[in-house]
Order: sequence, then structure tokens, then C-alpha cells
Amino acid sequence: MTAALSATIILQEWQVSLVTQRQAPINRGQAPMAGSAGASEAKSSYKSLDTPAQYVKGVGERFANVLTKLGIFNVRDLLFHFPRRYEDRTNFRRIARLEDGEWAAIKGKVVAVDSVPTRSRVTIIKVAIDDESGVASLVFFNQHYLKERFRKLYGKQIVAYGLAQSARWGIEISSVEWEEVREEAEPLSFGRIVPIYPLTEGVWQGTVRKIIKNALDLYASMLEDSLPERVISKHRLMGLREAVRNAHFPESEEAQKEAQRRLVFEELFTLQLALALRKQSQDLPGQGIQFAVPADYRRALHEALPFTLTPAQDRVIREIEADMAGSSCMNRLLQGDVGSGKTAVALAAILIAVKNGYQAALMAPTEILAEQHYLSLEDAAEKLGIKHDLLIGSLRAAKKREVYACAASGETQLLIGTHALIQESVEFKNLGLVVIDEQHRFGVLQRAALMQKGLNPDILVMTATPIPRTLTLTVYGDLDISVIDELPEGRKPVKTHWKHTGERQRVYESARKLIDEGRQVYVVCPLIEESEKLQARAATELAEHLQAEVFPDLRLGLLHGQVKTAEKDELMHKFRAGEIDVLVSTTVIEVGVDVPNASVMIIEDADRFGLAQLHQLRGRVGRGEHQSYCIMIGDAPTDEARKRLRTLAETNDGFIIAEEDLKLRGPGEFYGTRQSGMPALKIANIFRDIPILELARKEAFEIIEADPSLSRAENRFLQEELRRKLDGLQLATVS
Ligand code: ADP
Ligand code: MG
Repeated sequence: MTAALSATIILQEWQVSLVTQRQAPINRGQAPMAGSAGASEAKSSYKSLDTPAQYVKGVGERFANVLTKLGIFNVRDLLFHFPRRYEDRTNFRRIARLEDGEWAAIKGKVVAVDSVPTRSRVTIIKVAIDDESGVASLVFFNQHYLKERFRKLYGKQIVAYGLAQSARWGIEISSVEWEEVREEAEPLSFGRIVPIYPLTEGVWQGTVRKIIKNALDLYASMLEDSLPERVISKHRLMGLREAVRNAHFPESEEAQKEAQRRLVFEELFTLQLALALRKQSQDLPGQGIQFAVPADYRRALHEALPFTLTPAQDRVIREIEADMAGSSCMNRLLQGDVGSGKTAVALAAILIAVKNGYQAALMAPTEILAEQHYLSLEDAAEKLGIKHDLLIGSLRAAKKREVYACAASGETQLLIGTHALIQESVEFKNLGLVVIDEQHRFGVLQRAALMQKGLNPDILVMTATPIPRTLTLTVYGDLDISVIDELPEGRKPVKTHWKHTGERQRVYESARKLIDEGRQVYVVCPLIEESEKLQARAATELAEHLQAEVFPDLRLGLLHGQVKTAEKDELMHKFRAGEIDVLVSTTVIEVGVDVPNASVMIIEDADRFGLAQLHQLRGRVGRGEHQSYCIMIGDAPTDEARKRLRTLAETNDGFIIAEEDLKLRGPGEFYGTRQSGMPALKIANIFRDIPILELARKEAFEIIEADPSLSRAENRFLQEELRRKLDGLQLATVS
């Protein structure tokens, strides 16, 4: 333990004893400062950033309790309780010059106080302020107690900030913040750029400003810069103390911006250090299989596939080759929009594993998809001589035993199935590669689950949801990522339209025209989240209605989660063969289904679906040579729903859609939760601060690369900082 660290711990212990002592003042003998005048003096002699907030001037026991609601327990928390925004109240406006709709600060005398009854039960208090250029009324709603307060201030100077509006009898100012002018005190709320803090019940801006000012005066000088000096000077960052001061009470707008940049950098830097450490702990060299990349395998692949790989597919295959040839375990995320050709890339990886004498597993989220993979890989696998097999729940017991036996003996080289493949009792002889087709599902399989089975294969996770840069730099920041960023040539973008329910008949008529031209159509029924049974019933009813009333002469099929596997197989087979014109379905067709001749996707009650889901559904069409259409039917009752449908109609770009989705739903779902293992961010915003995020990431990863245990002298503060901030989070331990 370093001297500084042990000193901190001793200080903390002292504080604990100080607190207890205050509650039980009799126990004098244990006072850390024997012979001193008592606890209150002792506390000021032993102040540190860990001192309970209660001891900051102006706080006290009762208010300290309220502050805990804001997550403020000690001085450090208080110093890092940053404003939500700022208001520039550097200059007072003359009342006579106030303009309608302007936010402004004024200074003047209280000349009248009135309470105005209204017909609804709202009471309005109006306070007239005179600054000699004119008179304006401050307007307060339902704050009865203010009447007395202002009466007492009659004739006194106050300052006020709010929204000026012209009313019948002159200017009124609403949303008011105000305070009495006291010449002796440093004005915290006026004549400067004023911080506006996040509050909770029982806490006022003025109070928070005051106690934070007190905390700054006494404690800011104790803040230690943990960023290495090299990083500070390279990025011309403001020092920590100056930054914290300016984040609360900026000297100027520029100073505030610089302070913010510095603090955001630091926060993101810590996050990236944690990610770098976590990545490092997974990448231990010597633990993975070192596959040899066979010289001729690419030619074999080329001959087995009915198309030429796109440059993007080529590039990501090379990235995967490098991982597989390396001595650490591959842990790669492959992202590519629907239809970008991820399966062919997976096949390349599978081929490398098999050629090296290892087995591979390909896992899909549903049985339909597993079968789909099995079918679509059949041809190529045959040509490549890969012995492949399918394991799904509906197999007969005898067949299942056979599949198990072949996997255990090593005869099966590629086993395709659902996640059950690795969760259940399947044994492999020598599993070298696991490919997981997660499609749009966020979340990455824990390597731990595999390691528990004594397996340490290379892992390739495929996802069809483009993951916004924001997340690949944070939540997924410890994974290697490959992106297929172009579609195979000749694809026509899907034309997307949003129609109101009143236009439904017209939509059906247009669909019929395309069916007459030989195309096929999907109709997705409204989303019912309550139960699969209800969902199945809705699909059945829709199919019956369409068959009876709309398309009596056409061949309809019905697919939902409760259709038996054998029936499902037959249905999909028929649809693929063109023997069904209209496939009515629930969202089970959301992922993976690939029927190029199907060129129309009709989504009923589209406003109930999420953006990502709609994009996935749309991805089922546009897979062949024909122009495809996606028609979303829905009246979109909310702004958010309208925004979703409009976004989808406007763009086919999965990245834009994913970003939009994230904004609409908020990053909280992925970020800042314990689940993601990320520390919560206080000041950085992962949408706004991407450029800083990238800089911080680069620095952090370089530091961990050069000093994996942060044991060098220049990194000692970093280590302490990390320990403190990441305490309790499931991140790699710093040792
Ligand atoms: P996804 O990334 O959605 O899983 P798939 O791998 O299912 O995409 O590929 C979608 C379709 O595109 C398939 O029919 C596949 O055969 C075809 N495909 C894949 N790569 C190419 C390519 N380079 N050129 C032409 N067609 C391709
Ligand atoms: Mg796929």
C-alpha cells in the first residue's frame, strides 16, 4: 500500500469516529485530538473530500439528509454535483427596455404586492418592481406564502430573473427566480453566469449555490488531478481545481466550456480505462486456439458460393482470419444490416475451424432461424465437404440421440441450432468456434457460460442491428467490432410508405396488383405483447378475414409462434416455392427469413412496433431483383409514434435508424445501468460528446497497453481514482 493511500484510509477512519462521537459526545477519551475543545473543532482540522456533507458550512444535519436524495453524501459529491445548465445574468436589463418573450434579469424595489383570485382555484401573486425606468410585475402561481415574504421586503431592493411578457397592464415576468439584494454577500445568483442545479424537494437553487460555494472555498484546493500530465498538456485540458470551480461559477462563457470539456474528458477517460482493463482480461494471450489459415480455403469458398463476396465481406473476413490466427480468443462482433451477407462471412470462419480439425457451432435465436440457416448453408456446406447437422427441440428422440452422438464423436463438423446448443447437454469433441446469430438482440453471450463447460472457443457474434457508434464506444467498448457497410450490388432500396387505417383497402388493392405480376406478400398482424396465445389468435383472425373478405381467390398461409414445427416447415417450404401468395404472420418472421420473390411487406398497426423492429420487418423484403415495398398502416396517435414511422419512411439506413431509436428510447436502456456494467455518467453525454469520447478512448487504451496494471508512478493516481469510481461495478479488478 502506498503512503498516500494508507493516509487516506486513516483519515476516513477518523471521520467515522468523529461522526459517532458527535452522536455520543460523552465518549471523549477516543477523540482523535485529545485535549482539543471538542468534536466541532476537530472536524475542521481534519477536513478532506470524504468529510460528510453535513459539516460544510450552511448544510447541517437536517439538510444533509435532504441532500442524500441527490446522491450527495460527502464533500466530493457536493463538488461534483454539477449544474444542469447556466443562465447568463451578467447584466441587468432596464425594465422600460424589456421585450416581449425575453429571458432577463432585473433589479429594483418592491413597490406593491397583490394576490389575485381566479375562477379556477389558482391563486396568483403579483409583485410590482420599480427600477426607475419602469415597473414590471413578477407573477407567481399558487405560492401563497410569498405574499407575506414580499410584504416584509416592501421598499427593499431585489433582483429577479424570468420570462418577460407584455400583458394588458404592462410587462409581466413569470418563471421567476429572485433574491433580496444584500450588499455584503458575494452575489451568487446575479451579475454573473449563474449555475442552475438539479434539485429535489426541499432544496432551492439559492441554497445549493451557497453551500457549493462554501464547499469550493474550503475544499477545492484538495482536489488532486488524476489525469497524467502528458494527457493534460497534450489535449490542453484545464486543471481539475480550476475546472471544478468554473463548472459551478464560471468566470466567463469560455471558461465554462473549457471546464466542461475537461470534466467530460475525465469522466469518459475513466470509463475507457475500465473498458480497456476488461478487454485486456479477456484477451489473455495463449488461451485461445491458434488456427492456421489454409492457403487455398478462400478459393474453395469462392467456388462454393453462388456469388462473389463484396469488398466489405472480404475485409471483415480478413479481420476474422487475423483473430483466429492469433493466440488470444476471438471475441468479435460482426454487424451488418439485414441482407448484407453475414452468413457467408460466418461460413468463412467455419471453414477455417473445420479445416483445422475443429468443430463449429452456429446458433440462432429461434428454431425457424436455425432451420433457415441450415437450409441456406446446405448447398455450400455440401460443396465444401463440411459435415453439418441440425439440432432442434422438435426432433424425435432417436434422431436427437444420433445428433448428440455425432457431435460428441466429432463426426459432425458444423452443428446448427438454437442457444440450447451450448446450454444443454450437447457435448462436442473439440469445439473451436461458436458463431452466434443474435440478429437484433442486444447483449452478448457471456464467455463465462462456455468456459464453465471447459470450452474456450473463438466467438463471433453477428447482429443485424447496426449498433450506433455511441454504443460501440461504450457499452460494447471492450469488444472487437467488424462492420459490413455495403450491400451486395444490384439491391434496390425498399420503398417505404406510411398509410392511415382509412387507406387500408387501397393498400390491399396495390398488393394484389403485384401478386398478379407474380410477387408474394407478407402481412404482419398487430403486435400483442401480453401473450403468445393472444398473438396467435390475432394472426388467425386476420388471416381468416383476409381470406374471406379481401383475397378469397388467393393462396394464404398463416405463421405464428404456436404453429407446430412440421407444419411450419411445410409452410415455409411452400412460401419459398411460390405456392403461397400471402403469408400472414406475427413477428416470428422478423428475423432471418429470406424469400427473394416476396416483395411486399404490409405491417398492420405499425405504430405499435419499435423502430428497430420495423426496420427488421422491412428487411424481409428487398432481397431479390424486384422493386420491393414496405407499407406501414397506422394512425400513430402519439408524437413519438409519428416520429418512428416518419423516420422509417425517410431512410433505409440502419445506422440512422439505430441512432434515432436510441434517442427516442434514451440510452438508459443500454447505458448507465448496473446491468451494462458501466459507471453512471454525471456530466458527459454520450451522444453529444462523441469526439471527446474517441480521444479519451485512444489515450486510455494506450495507457493500459503500456502499463497493464497501472503500476507506474505516473499512473498511480489513476489507479486510486479507478478503484474509487468503479467500486462495486463488475469491471476488471485493478490489482
Ligand atoms: P444477413 O446479413 O441478413 O444475414 P444473408 O447472409 O442472409 O444476410 O444474405 C442475404 C442474401 O444475400 C442471401 O440471399 C445471400 O445469398 C445473398 N448474398 C450474400 N452475399 C452476397 C454477395 N456478395 N453478392 C450477392 N448476394 C449475396
Ligand atoms: Mg442472417
